[in-house]
Amino acid sequence: MAEKKSLEFQADVSKVLHLVVHSLYTKKEIFLRELISNAADAIDKRRFRALTDPTFALEAGRIVLTPNEKEGTLTISDNGIGMTEEELTSHLGTIARSGTREFTENLKKAGENSGDLTQLIGQFGVGFYSAFLVAEQVEVTSRAVGHDQAYRWTSDARTSFTIEPAERDEPGTTIVLKLKEDEKEYAKPWRVREVVRHHSDYIGHPVELIDPEKPDEPEILNQAKALWQRNPKEVTKEQYEEFYKHLAHDWEAPLAYRHFKIEGNQEFAGIVYLPKNARADLLDPRTKHGVRLHVRRVLAMESSEELLPSWLRFVRGVVDSEDLPLNVSRETLQDSRIVRIMRKQVVSNVLTMIEELKKERPEEYVTFWTKFGAILKEGLYFEPELKERLSELCLFAHTLPSTESSDAEKARENAEPFGEWTTLAGYVSRMKEGQKGIYYIEGTSLALLRQSPHLEKLVKSGHEVLLLTDNVDSFALEKLTDYADKPFINVTSADLDLGESDAEKPEPTDALTEKLQTVLGSKVQSVRNSSRLAESPACLVTPEGGLPPHMVAMFKAQNLTVPETKRILEINPDHPIIQNLRKMQLLNSDSPELARYMELLYDQALLAEGAELESPAQVARRIGSLLEDLSSRAIRD
Ligand code: ADP
Repeated sequence: MAEKKSLEFQADVSKVLHLVVHSLYTKKEIFLRELISNAADAIDKRRFRALTDPTFALEAGRIVLTPNEKEGTLTISDNGIGMTEEELTSHLGTIARSGTREFTENLKKAGENSGDLTQLIGQFGVGFYSAFLVAEQVEVTSRAVGHDQAYRWTSDARTSFTIEPAERDEPGTTIVLKLKEDEKEYAKPWRVREVVRHHSDYIGHPVELIDPEKPDEPEILNQAKALWQRNPKEVTKEQYEEFYKHLAHDWEAPLAYRHFKIEGNQEFAGIVYLPKNARADLLDPRTKHGVRLHVRRVLAMESSEELLPSWLRFVRGVVDSEDLPLNVSRETLQDSRIVRIMRKQVVSNVLTMIEELKKERPEEYVTFWTKFGAILKEGLYFEPELKERLSELCLFAHTLPSTESSDAEKARENAEPFGEWTTLAGYVSRMKEGQKGIYYIEGTSLALLRQSPHLEKLVKSGHEVLLLTDNVDSFALEKLTDYADKPFINVTSADLDLGESDAEKPEPTDALTEKLQTVLGSKVQSVRNSSRLAESPACLVTPEGGLPPHMVAMFKAQNLTVPETKRILEINPDHPIIQNLRKMQLLNSDSPELARYMELLYDQALLAEGAELESPAQVARRIGSLLEDLSSRAIRD
């Protein structure tokens, strides 16, 4: 028989172990929830395999807890799928979880601030390792189904563990915790009972307690009925929350949940949850997502993407169908009519949960929105038939009417409970009389957008403008197009109609705009006088069908080639700079100075919108020579 082997933990693991022990010390008792949850998963896995392979058959799942005061130990034993020697090494010796790399990177960033660390650990879950919160030594004896040989994994949570052959009568796993001196309370039956009732009641398999003094009287500690099968009236908030932590490997309680039962042609029940925090890999649409699928209580799939669209990839939950075949596979799920019906219901229930959160807890809704709003908006693009419901959920940053305008009063009256954000309904309720649509501007940052020359006149005249900064916004608006019969109007588009009479509009072109066109040549499509500017001398606008600059930047960042869009330079005829240029032109239309100033005017319009300059060095040279002129003039005067 092979002898005892001593192995080092993978580097990340010892770091995690250290963190778990040091940052979760106030919540030590949750170690038991984690171990029971692993045992329940192992039983589910065995039952699932048994559907196609009789070797895995199991009459009834059992999770047995044996606290032993005399020995100072707590033993957790299950008759689940068990682990082979390799599995013991790899599952308990590495963090076998996606996102490990991000985790270690984040660790470096978080430093030793324990508040941040707890949150970090929460994002990734460290399940099994939490045993070291209370144990000075952990011994895992496991025998995989279909194998005769069992193995024992032992570690004292420092840097290494040992593996050696062992005996176990039946397949399954037994974990013996040798409790630390201060943690001996977990060797007392009453304490174990209390923790299990509190944290693990949702477990669908019986959790038994065996008191070594009364070994023949096992006591069942939980209801052992799947939580989603119970009457919602009989389930407490805490139970829903504990179940979520098990399901999502999250240490934090969820932001919201919804328990539903569908009856009729298709019968199924489920619970969906909104997490409080986003996992690190959330923004990537390829991230695995979906709800856990059970078929008549038996776990059939860890995450069924068919039941939840990718724009709801932050949702966690469980669905249990009465109608699907037990041996359901990915392929059958993909083209199953039953699944399509279920998906519709699951999505609808998730939306109801989000709608309720928005209505009942606006402040928390803002938290939700800042973390997940950009993902939810993808739904507007992918599922236009849900446009009505989704558009009511959207929040937007916006400009406020300047305080001196009479519109400020109206804005205060129609204020919404979402802080800096507005809903579309709120925006429309504050629209000015005669306003044709919902004004918006897109760009990379709020700070930049708020300063944008394009919205000066609008804001001054008491109009609100939505400020859109998420990459998804352009795509979402492509499908959304209007809200409450009001079209969305991009304030940087060339054909922006501010509703003025012709008499109020300046002549579109004159000698100065023509001169500008000659000087700037192919940099711009055309030059014209504008009525959208108040404080700035000039801005660039996108002609119809052209790509706005932030989209160009986004495509370029993804290494995509984009057709070049030449923009229109608009100038503010009332601005002192423009008026001076006009005078200079009258004096000498061919002066090199005039041409230089015109180039600078264009550069300045680019700078104001935060665009990437084609040649920053050249712009710097132009500014430099201007400074030289000005400073020598100052000395002369
Ligand atoms: P998680 O359960 O979140 O994946 P853990 O660190 O708790 O992470 O466990 C790591 C892995 O070890 C599990 O995914 C599972 O494969 C295995 N494992 C843990 N406990 C058991 C058990 N009681 N029976 C069988 N396998 C187990």
